[in-house]
Amino acid sequence: MTTLAIHNPATGALIAEVPADDAASVASKALAARSAQPAWAALPLAQRQACITKFRAAVVAELDALAVTMTRETGKPIKMSRNELNGLLGRIDFFLTEAAPSTATQTVFADGGMTEQIQHIPLGVIANISAWNYPWFVGGNVFIPALLTGNAVLYKPSEYATLTGLAMARLLHTAGVPLDVFIPVVGGGEVGAALQAQRIDGLFFTGSYATGARIAQTLGPRMVKLQLELGGKDPTYVCDDADPRIAAESLADGAMYNTGQSCCSVERIYVHEKIFDSFVAAFLDTVQGFKVGDPMDDSTYIGAITRPQQLDVLDAQVADAIAKGATLLTGGKRLPGNTYAPTVFSGVNHTMDLMVEESFGPIIGIQKVANDAEAVALMNDTRYGLTAGVFSPDEARARAVLGQVNAGSVYWNCCDRVSPRLPWSGHGDSGVGLTLSTYGIQTFTRPKAWHLRQA
Ligand code: NAD
Repeated sequence: MTTLAIHNPATGALIAEVPADDAASVASKALAARSAQPAWAALPLAQRQACITKFRAAVVAELDALAVTMTRETGKPIKMSRNELNGLLGRIDFFLTEAAPSTATQTVFADGGMTEQIQHIPLGVIANISAWNYPWFVGGNVFIPALLTGNAVLYKPSEYATLTGLAMARLLHTAGVPLDVFIPVVGGGEVGAALQAQRIDGLFFTGSYATGARIAQTLGPRMVKLQLELGGKDPTYVCDDADPRIAAESLADGAMYNTGQSCCSVERIYVHEKIFDSFVAAFLDTVQGFKVGDPMDDSTYIGAITRPQQLDVLDAQVADAIAKGATLLTGGKRLPGNTYAPTVFSGVNHTMDLMVEESFGPIIGIQKVANDAEAVALMNDTRYGLTAGVFSPDEARARAVLGQVNAGSVYWNCCDRVSPRLPWSGHGDSGVGLTLSTYGIQTFTRPKAWHLRQA
């Protein structure tokens, strides 16, 4: 049997070796899910809700231990691991409350003996190929509404968050979800590819554009419902009427929280020339207060870079920006424990990779702009479109700017924020489809149209 070795990214130590899947075991898991799904879908919603309610209670009971598992395998600072698990609870509550109203059969027409209804039926067996950076959030956004709406789920955690994925499975099974209704699939890209080759009714992917595009290319001709939640290069514009210190403190956190390894991290900042210097000074002040170090330490703010190869990406962006004339204000180098010094550049422009390619690390470029029109043009100069923000006390001005920006989510005087009540989606290379909100429950169902004439 093949195994998957799991290392602690902060120390390099081997922390576990777990049995991994291969093409044959993935195929038999897919068949098992196929036969288990109809009975799960036939249960009253209240019974599926009861399982998810028990799962929520189990997460609460084991929260500290689950946070340690996540931190050990991903390098996420322990406080942020606890934050993620606590944040998950609100999402579960939202799904539990909204599952029934979002999927109730709607009568949309009734007249002269003719009735028209929309019924929401489960997709069937869905595959979820997931990322490591927020494994509970991005996994839970899929498997909780998918299970509530009567689907069976083949869940492949990232190879960098496998122990966390196995913990999810254990807690779901203990909570009463049948073993073959939620099945973890263990391994890396080749196991993801094997999963995608099975007879599935939907594939829900969170990860990089490169992998998402490869999946879309293979899955396209098979007419399987496909959702892709991909990367971003999220911009924020700080207007001349904004308070530079308040904006800087919020944006430094938005850029570097979770060690900058968030899909909606602030990745580019445009600042009006009138307050540029005071903003940059306040930003540096904040960033230099961030403690880099051992992810298990409660006071650590910047933890390990999860995938070692990302350190090369960060080094390359730093070298490219310096070669093209940017000013390195702080950081720009690796530190012990697979960490990267929080890095801030000014004097940047869009010829530099730092301003156009996803960095996925604690690194940011701050560019000076002369007016709102220039800011809008630069914000839209991207192949991505996940989130974008504006800082200004003037709501009308912020709305005018954000109304012109191509992004799935827009922020006024805030950033790096996700709400279960709002749809989470991207434009362009940030993906297709959505999770969260009531649409993110309905997305796991197929609307069936009923035309009913009284005889
Ligand atoms: P990744 O693309 O390297 O891996 C994602 C998943 O795909 C993993 O489970 C991996 O094993 C699997 N995989 C790899 N090759 C495959 C193949 N050929 N076929 C099928 N599956 C395959 O991405 P990652 O490093 O895990 O995640 C980081 C990326 O995810 C960033 O770009 C980030 O912005 C993005 N992300 C987006 C969101 C969002 O909501 N839009 C959320 C979190 C992360």
